[in-house]
Amino acid sequence: PRKATNPTQKDPVGVYCRVRPLSRAEQECCIEVINGTTVQIHPPEGYRVFRNGEYRETQYSFKEVFGTLVPQKELFDVVAKPLVEDLIRGKNGLLFTYGVTGSGKTHTMTGSPGDGGLLPRCLAMIFNSIGPFQAKRFVFKLDDKNGVDVQSEVEALLERQRREALPTPKTPAGKESAWQEAAQRTRLYWDLFGFFPSFPLSQRPPQSKILREDQNHNMYVTGCTEVEVKSTEEAFEVFWRGQKKRRIANTQLNRESSRSHSVFIIKLAQAPLDADGDNVLQDKEQITLSQLSLVDLAGSERTNRTKAEGNRLREAGNINQSLMTLRTCIEVLRENQLYGTNKMVPYRDSKLTHLFKNYFDGEGKVRMIVCVNPKAEDYEESLQVMRFAEMTQ
Ligand code: ADP
Ligand code: MG
Repeated sequence: PRKATNPTQKDPVGVYCRVRPLSRAEQECCIEVINGTTVQIHPPEGYRVFRNGEYRETQYSFKEVFGTLVPQKELFDVVAKPLVEDLIRGKNGLLFTYGVTGSGKTHTMTGSPGDGGLLPRCLAMIFNSIGPFQAKRFVFKLDDKNGVDVQSEVEALLERQRREALPTPKTPAGKESAWQEAAQRTRLYWDLFGFFPSFPLSQRPPQSKILREDQNHNMYVTGCTEVEVKSTEEAFEVFWRGQKKRRIANTQLNRESSRSHSVFIIKLAQAPLDADGDNVLQDKEQITLSQLSLVDLAGSERTNRTKAEGNRLREAGNINQSLMTLRTCIEVLRENQLYGTNKMVPYRDSKLTHLFKNYFDGEGKVRMIVCVNPKAEDYEESLQVMRFAEMTQ
């Protein structure tokens, strides 16, 4: 099949910001939307930094900023709709929500039944678009082997988390229980590392075989569920099935779900009809494959988040390693885009980024929505998130 490529595109990476409303009116707010592209952060009491004898707020700019009153539909129109249009034109797209736990990533990506997020809206647009296209040139039904209308759901797992969790391999005298606890944690991480929803935990594939590359140099996950769907409802049903499995697995692994990524990949194959418009041409050369990957990332908070210690910034703890790699990859990609350089994007450093290799090779748009909760308690983590976003501007 023809590959979905677009080497001439000018704007491969775009970073947006969404500020969620405070949950209670009495909470102190530290983030303010200044205009359509800028947010301002006020350090709360105890964090104030004076420069040249003067108290400074910091401002960060984005491709676009969505304030607390912006409805889901508007986010969809601005951020996701162009990606769905690309998908239908045969181009690839990748959309992330990034931020700490509680910042609104899942609200933005999935939403709630009465207030659907980007994912159900993408599905609806895809299936609504198929009608007119079908009448003209395309149909979306082919045999399984061609992978038409396929939805896959995968949980991408974190390459280095296991290593982070490795205990020191000796038992300190008198500290057996602490060591045992650490050892157990390691085993859990080890399991976590090989798990995908379509597998019982005991039948997971060996580590080295989880990610594979097909003949078209697209990465795929061994054994991940691919389901052909014919309607928005069916597709959404597949999504929920995946979420349920993810929840069960997280519980089995005694792990917080905020520490794992949720990856949902929509694959689309398009083939022209024959002259009568009755049958799909089965010629592989005529089929265009494209995919849109929707990713609700793990919480970006550092793991050893503790209570504030006076006005000293807390030390940076272990941030989720695949998120670190993702940050680096996006930074390099952005740099290449801005300066026309050709620096290697280190996508092989984590499974999450390796899965999205093609995007980092420049085949398709990457869009990221940075979600922030403006509450003062999240100040430091929000600052981390903003600094990253700044580097990619
Ligand atoms: P995350 O996935 O980043 O951990 P959630 O999306 O689960 O965070 O959001 C935490 C809570 O805040 C949820 O109850 C969600 O409904 C609410 N929330 C988040 N963003 C918004 C928003 N923009 N408008 C209204 N409620 C929101
Ligand atoms: Mg969430």
